[in-house]
Amino acid sequence: MRIVMIGSGYVGLVSGACLADFGHQVVCIDKDESKIARLKGGQIPIYEPGLEDLVARNVAAGRLTFSTELGEPVRAAEVVFIAVGTPARRGDGHADLSYVYGAAEEIAPWLDGFTVIVTKSTVPVGTGDEVDRILRETNPEAQFAVASNPEFLREGAAIEDFKRPDRIVVGIEDDRARPVMEEVYRPLYLNQSPVLFTGRRTSELIKYAANAFLALKITFINEMADLCEAVGADVQEVARGIGLDNRIGGKFLHAGPGYGGSCFPKDTLALVKTAEDSGAPLRLVETTVAVNDTRKRAMGRKIVAACGGSVRGKKIAVLGLTFKPNTDDMRDAPSLSIIQALEDGGATVSAFDPEGMSSARALLPNVEFVTSPYDAVDAAAATVIVTEWDAFRALDLRNIRERMAGDVLVDLRNIYRPEAAEAAGLFYFGVGRGQLS
Ligand code: NAD
Repeated sequence: MRIVMIGSGYVGLVSGACLADFGHQVVCIDKDESKIARLKGGQIPIYEPGLEDLVARNVAAGRLTFSTELGEPVRAAEVVFIAVGTPARRGDGHADLSYVYGAAEEIAPWLDGFTVIVTKSTVPVGTGDEVDRILRETNPEAQFAVASNPEFLREGAAIEDFKRPDRIVVGIEDDRARPVMEEVYRPLYLNQSPVLFTGRRTSELIKYAANAFLALKITFINEMADLCEAVGADVQEVARGIGLDNRIGGKFLHAGPGYGGSCFPKDTLALVKTAEDSGAPLRLVETTVAVNDTRKRAMGRKIVAACGGSVRGKKIAVLGLTFKPNTDDMRDAPSLSIIQALEDGGATVSAFDPEGMSSARALLPNVEFVTSPYDAVDAAAATVIVTEWDAFRALDLRNIRERMAGDVLVDLRNIYRPEAAEAAGLFYFGVGRGQLS
């Protein structure tokens, strides 16, 4: 099949490369000329494990190409995916749909023959109706159907998630789109990934409901961690104790500094707005958003408390900046609020992250960036683990302690055993492990 992917970011590039790997002929489009120039030159503009090889292989096989011009590729395509960003709109938290609608306007004049336009971007209920209207009004002659096909991949494991998804959700209002979408995902039928065909609005809502539920689950265990600290219980064991119940499940029960990233914060907020506007408010999701917002700065206060009540004039080492491991994505990362809180308290911050430092530099102008975790902790009063990169899981804690001026280790991901840290001469503060009420 000939497929066009509009938007070549984390989702568009991974989806485009995977669809090419399935054997389709894919053109990935982006407005960002430097991104396309880099892709044409064999460079990958983001960090995602396995992506470089996947792209190189499919480019070499002639199945994957890149362009800033969507006209001719759209004219030739049977399927056009829209995978542009849908960030939170400044001021009110609604999803900003200007990129999606902009893409629809650009596509419309080029449609030639029956084409399925698929929104892969995460979009609020009713967006497909509006895309349909824009296409119809801009090009009344065009033969097309608009489908919704939300993406559930996780950064850091995106290729595996795309190729072996728990499920594929496709929302359609026009039966002509069904065989086309079945053909797009035929290789996954062979893998027996369930494909759920629904109405378009239902499909749009499934994506938000899934993200909101996961955000709620994380927030639940985070609040439980605070209670554990207050009453001297261990949240890791509480999580295991409840997670072994199949009705609950053990995933997304890791207490930490609060969820961040490019999806959960904006998607929970957008869902709250949709629900408010529809007269069916989602109180649980509203509370999740509020609890998570306050948590990130509270983590800053937790570090200050671990340092004896003040960080003024002290150096704090921060290990891990990205919102999770195996990505370079800094969007809404908890490290940003935590570092801000530490700087507000008068600390200087030295940081190391395996992949996130080039994007972090622009967002954290006062932070000293170093090239290893050991350099970060030199003369630090406290070391704080914010992101659980593998590179931080087996640090030489004695060496860390020797290099530090102080002896505080705040492990916001609970990756160390308190006894191991204490044996190295460190004062250990985890999350939900009985200390610091
Ligand atoms: P991104 O910012 O990495 O990529 C979006 C790209 O679209 C950018 O490169 C931008 O230049 C390009 N673009 C914008 N308008 C364009 C246009 N008219 N023509 C061509 N290119 C255009 O965003 P992302 O993280 O890939 O997210 C895309 C969508 O997928 C969002 O709706 C997001 O919520 C959703 N999503 C993201 C993830 C994730 O893990 N990142 C997972 C699931 C769903």
